[in-house]
Amino acid sequence: MSDLTELHRSWFAALDTELEGALEVRRRLHADPHLSGQEEPTSLQVEAALGIPMQRIAETGRFVRTGPSDGPSVLLRAELDALPVTEATGVAFASPTGRMHACGHDVHLAALVAVVRAAAGLDLPLGLLAVLQPREESYPSGALDVIGSGLITDEQVSAAIGAHVHPGVPPGQVATGAGVVNAAADEIEIVLTGDGGHGAYPEHAADPVAALGHIVLGLPEVVRHTVSPMRPATVSVGHVQAGEPSANVLPSQARLLATMRTTDARDREALPRQVRRLAEHQAMAYGVHAEVRITAGEPVLYNDPDLVDRVDAWLEHTGVEPTEPMRSLGADDFSFFGELVPSVMCFVGVRVAGHQEDPTPLHHPRFLPVDEAVGDVARALVAGYLAAVELHHRQPPTTP
Ligand SMILES: [Zn+2]
Repeated sequence: MSDLTELHRSWFAALDTELEGALEVRRRLHADPHLSGQEEPTSLQVEAALGIPMQRIAETGRFVRTGPSDGPSVLLRAELDALPVTEATGVAFASPTGRMHACGHDVHLAALVAVVRAAAGLDLPLGLLAVLQPREESYPSGALDVIGSGLITDEQVSAAIGAHVHPGVPPGQVATGAGVVNAAADEIEIVLTGDGGHGAYPEHAADPVAALGHIVLGLPEVVRHTVSPMRPATVSVGHVQAGEPSANVLPSQARLLATMRTTDARDREALPRQVRRLAEHQAMAYGVHAEVRITAGEPVLYNDPDLVDRVDAWLEHTGVEPTEPMRSLGADDFSFFGELVPSVMCFVGVRVAGHQEDPTPLHHPRFLPVDEAVGDVARALVAGYLAAVELHHRQPPTTP
């Protein structure tokens, strides 16, 4: 235990000297963002900033292991991808390309650079496995591809740590929270087909548009009649499409896309069945045919309670206040790691533009965490590593 306290002290001291350089890295990454699947230039920049060769993973991703080269390791993840958002922050290092780091991934990458560089020369008890993960914002999931490469077994990963900036958490505080903190996210596609025709003669045609309208309105009812109101779940329709822009043609096809969010395995299993039933019976009532496809996405994001206790203790030890858990029906593919090893996602409070009560949200063209965010994310990652070492050795949480 005292060894870890000493490691913590030296690591934090080294972090202080690395942070200035990390801020520069953050600005460079922010100015040149790349979309999911096209993150190669970002990986190259991070690799150069780390100053050590990394190995390729999941196409555009990278990883590197430092500390003991054999035995168990602790995985620290940062995401590489940006979003198709036109930046409106007005800062000197704003992206001019119509792509933007509007989810703070530039901050996470810079923090991971600082953490790994600061660890050089320290006597780490377990391997530190830094992973630059591609495609967090899109499918196919980059996390799933990292796992599919065999990294978790090859490197004997004993725990995985993630940290994500969050404007809903007070600045200077970190929200962990045991159990489910994000939802499972699956995609629903419903396609209705029937005989279209003339809008003036609906009696001679089937009408997929009317059927689709009833399905859209019926989906919240399906949730209400399938899921206990004590368990968070929702289905939201994000896209409907039917026919050409014509007022008097009844189209022969209509389609919707919806996201299904659940927090309990029972609901994740039962809801698709009930959605299918609604779609098929509504279609039947209108004389059209329904095809329902459910594409599985991320599982629930589950923070391991034993790991959370230890992370919170190290955060307090560091002078960071662990705060109320940040639970939502958002989703993050970091959850795939949590299916295999104990993991924790730390939501790190950051100051952003806007009012304290109504801060600029993630994915917004003006979302820009202040510089301090880099150090706060780095400290959360180090707290996570130390907690994972304790968990591996079955040591009790440190006393703050
Ligand atoms: Zn994100």
